[in-house]
Amino acid sequence: MSKAGPVVLVTGGSRGIGAAIAAAAARRGYRVAVNYAANETAAKAVVDAIEADGGEAMAVAGDVAREADVVAMFAAIDERFGRLDALVNNAGVVDRKARLDQMSAERLERMMAVNVVGTMLCAREAVRRMSTKHGGKGGAIVNLGSVAARLGSPGEYVDYAAAKAAVETFTTGLAREVAEEGIRVNAVSPGLVATEIHASGGQPDRIERLRGMIPMKREGRPEEIANAVLWLLSEEASYTTGAILTVSGGR
Ligand code: NAP
Repeated sequence: MSKAGPVVLVTGGSRGIGAAIAAAAARRGYRVAVNYAANETAAKAVVDAIEADGGEAMAVAGDVAREADVVAMFAAIDERFGRLDALVNNAGVVDRKARLDQMSAERLERMMAVNVVGTMLCAREAVRRMSTKHGGKGGAIVNLGSVAARLGSPGEYVDYAAAKAAVETFTTGLAREVAEEGIRVNAVSPGLVATEIHASGGQPDRIERLRGMIPMKREGRPEEIANAVLWLLSEEASYTTGAILTVSGGR
């Protein structure tokens, strides 16, 4: 089935939620482009696991914040698969826990560049390929927001929270902009999910600390976020666009 199946690009597909989305997409018959920034070994492991299950996948390097990388990444997918049906803008970063009065301009710019500009650049390339206005066959985009967009993350990372709010507003706007062109655009906003992102922000104990604040009293599994993403990509969500789907155990 996967040999002629639809094609999805998952940015930041090498680890965490992105790796779970890539695996879930392959199980549903997608051919998967697994983007990564630096960790080629992890991306290749995701590809190998998909292929071992009889699916088709490719690893594709690229920093989503760099326009040239994004353009090259989409060109590589065009060359390998010759079509694009879905994009999951999953690549995202946090920085160290800090107050705004401790944040450098460099940090703020990186936070916006990866989380916001990266999402927009990848969506732009997808729209250029999917929009019926450009001769495409339509498609679906899912962006990864965060409950941080609503909570604001004071004392932790207001920059990240503001970037995720931008991603969610961008989802609303782009959904309406391309609604007549066969493209649905939605967001999934996770709460606390067990991945390496917390350690990358210098808080390896973050899940332990915050678990009690979640109404369901547990963190989410990457697969639980992937299931919501795959539903939004699917035909079952054919009338759903501009939705921000919170998947957070009630937070
Ligand atoms: P993660 O485990 O830290 O993985 C991040 C992924 O993004 C990796 O594949 C990484 O690639 C990639 N990446 C980082 N910077 C990139 C760049 N500039 N260009 C391309 N790829 C890049 O993160 P996660 O927890 O799975 O988070 C995935 C998404 O969910 C993010 O958007 C995050 O903000 C959002 N989210 C997560 C949580 C949570 O609790 N985990 C909650 C709410 C929202 P390398 O492997 O090459 O570094």
